[in-house]
Amino acid sequence: ATPMSIMTATGRGAQAGVLIKNAEALERFEKVDTLIVDKTGTLTMGKPRLVDVLPQPGHDEAEVLRLAASLERGSEHPLAEAIVRGAEERDVKMDEARDFEAVTGKGVKGVVDGKAVALGNLAMIRELGLEAGDLTAKANARRDEGETVMFVVLDGDIAGLVAVADPVKETTPAAIKDLHELGFRVIMATGDNERTAKAIGARLGIDEIRADVLPEDKARIIKELQAEGRKVAMAGDGVNDAPALAQADVGIAMGTGADVAIESAGITLVKGNLDGIVRARRLARATMRNIR
Ligand code: ADP
Ligand code: MG
Repeated sequence: ATPMSIMTATGRGAQAGVLIKNAEALERFEKVDTLIVDKTGTLTMGKPRLVDVLPQPGHDEAEVLRLAASLERGSEHPLAEAIVRGAEERDVKMDEARDFEAVTGKGVKGVVDGKAVALGNLAMIRELGLEAGDLTAKANARRDEGETVMFVVLDGDIAGLVAVADPVKETTPAAIKDLHELGFRVIMATGDNERTAKAIGARLGIDEIRADVLPEDKARIIKELQAEGRKVAMAGDGVNDAPALAQADVGIAMGTGADVAIESAGITLVKGNLDGIVRARRLARATMRNIR
């Protein structure tokens, strides 16, 4: 690639909010055949809202929410924000949490009012030696609607479920269609539950879904695809996504996401929409075609 044509492409990209780090990133991106996208904040708005609190018999809805929200005040996860905001909107007073601990890809733990409280996914309750049991059907009904369900654990028992919804971005469906037309195989990788991921993936026509994925697994999935000879780009926004962005042939960070993600990326989408990837691909193709 000539320096001039690369400069033209990166300049055009920048005007459209697609920041291409260097010539290498552009050249590599033209060869990419597989695109891995994170769900939360990439396909979806990343602004989840609390939609329901489902207490177990003998537990009070407001109390379950109070315990959950008190703990989540210590977390920066979008799900935590949804729960805290949900509590505020419902005028539920929160308390200080002690011994707060975030368990990556699983949830949060701590002590509220002298009670051991934990909140998170199935992996989280399993870590505590618990099982979902007959709550599974209740949880699955919400997941089939594309909602994320979290278990609230109080002193070693499941006190209830919290359901959160994160709508798909308005620009996502058309972007997925364009990405397919540009020849990408699109894979969703998410820490979220498989049913939730499938409900959203099916609506969007995503080719493959990897759910219940821990952050370190994302980099491993990319390595496996690369070992099969695939050229992989990964789009993500989270602090957790940095290792995967670095492992990918081209890392694509959402400009709305964490700084570490942006540092690990070859391409940054200022607006954080997937249609930036469509534009980047068209620029890469046009540039490389001119050169050959
Ligand atoms: P992703 O961004 O791909 O959805 P994360 O690794 O950020 O994945 O989170 C994976 C899962 O871990 C979430 O879907 C949720 O079930 C659980 N989780 C993570 N952080 C929290 C939190 N602060 N509160 C509750 N659950 C959490
Ligand atoms: Mg994330």
